[in-house]
Amino acid sequence: MAYKGRWIRMAQAESISARADPIGGILTRALGGERLGEADAIALIECADAELPRLMAAAAALRDRAKGRTVTFSPKVFLPITNLCRDRCSYCTFRKDPDDPGAWTMTLAEVAEWSRRGRELGCIEALMCLGDKPELAFKEYRETLMTLGARGTIEHVAHACETALDAGLLPHTNAGIMTRAEMALLRPLNVSMGLMLESVSPRLRARGGVHQWAPDKDPAVRLKMIDEAGELRIPFTTGILIGIGDTPAERAQSLLAIRASHERHGQIQEVIIQNFRAKPGLPLEDAPEPGALEMARAIATARLVLGGAMNVQAPPNLSPHEIELFLAAGINDWGGISPLSRDYVNPEAPWPHLERLRERCARAGFQLKRRLAIYPEFINDEWVDPALRPALDRLSDRTAAEVET
Ligand code: SF4
Repeated sequence: MAYKGRWIRMAQAESISARADPIGGILTRALGGERLGEADAIALIECADAELPRLMAAAAALRDRAKGRTVTFSPKVFLPITNLCRDRCSYCTFRKDPDDPGAWTMTLAEVAEWSRRGRELGCIEALMCLGDKPELAFKEYRETLMTLGARGTIEHVAHACETALDAGLLPHTNAGIMTRAEMALLRPLNVSMGLMLESVSPRLRARGGVHQWAPDKDPAVRLKMIDEAGELRIPFTTGILIGIGDTPAERAQSLLAIRASHERHGQIQEVIIQNFRAKPGLPLEDAPEPGALEMARAIATARLVLGGAMNVQAPPNLSPHEIELFLAAGINDWGGISPLSRDYVNPEAPWPHLERLRERCARAGFQLKRRLAIYPEFINDEWVDPALRPALDRLSDRTAAEVET
């Protein structure tokens, strides 16, 4: 009875201290391995500036426990398979109409040449990046596809993946919304695939929102595809885009939606926390970009909500001054970095020089290592199509041999 009384008093004391220090209570539970709920995630991402250092410290501790002091990147060739797109997101400079200057659909000869050069420069990933469903919007593009010998965009992507594999690269496709059948077609040719969730906020699709003219940005459609990738056992990359009219609470809800899909299927190999960058000539050209601390808050919240085992990534070229801050906030990956092709989605943002990035990581106490476009925890018979095994084994051996950048 005395024991029970003591336990009740301890529980009461804990509850009083959690009430007095709600952020501290949430951090203690996260570090204890507890699954945080929506109210917790929103409290974290909305915390005051004064709370941010301990939010980051807890996130970093969780990362260190699971990942150690290693931060990875994927040496990649960025292949803009086509920049035609049926959507019109108001922050995008990548998309073009067929008669716009710079409209471009890569031929297989171009894919082969870029892949060969990328391989020579040490790349191991072929990132197939393209607009969403251009064949539904543009007759000229449908004719282009016929001259390229493909009946649809995804068939052209499949041919491009075969070409990149022949050149010794491992493809990772981000083609916007794909059907289950399209993903199944690409599975034997891709070690992983991706689709940014961006945001679960339906407001962004409403009149005046950044996704008003982008039917493929419907959050329900995107979450369905992310789930289907899991059902097909495809290692999957997703993430959130912050600063596009979303609120901090919606960022937290987006992270929770990603976690829920991962809990159902186990397919999420990495979560990207990406910041909107304003560009001239866009409706959002004068919109404020997310600040460094706003990004740090989102990164730390992602780590605390998703747990130590998740790979949390932030693109270094979009925040070149925040390398140390993002490491301190809990990331363990920088994503793809290309020695050959620019970031066609953010062409104003050059990739960091690898040596300098390595030095900055080292000064912050981290070892920078290259990785494949599929994380080690997914390299097994459940997640890798047998057709990819020879190419993957070859590149795994080579990557292990070259593991220092
Ligand atoms: S962000 Fe993607 S879906 Fe939106 S317009 Fe650009 S290419 Fe199309």
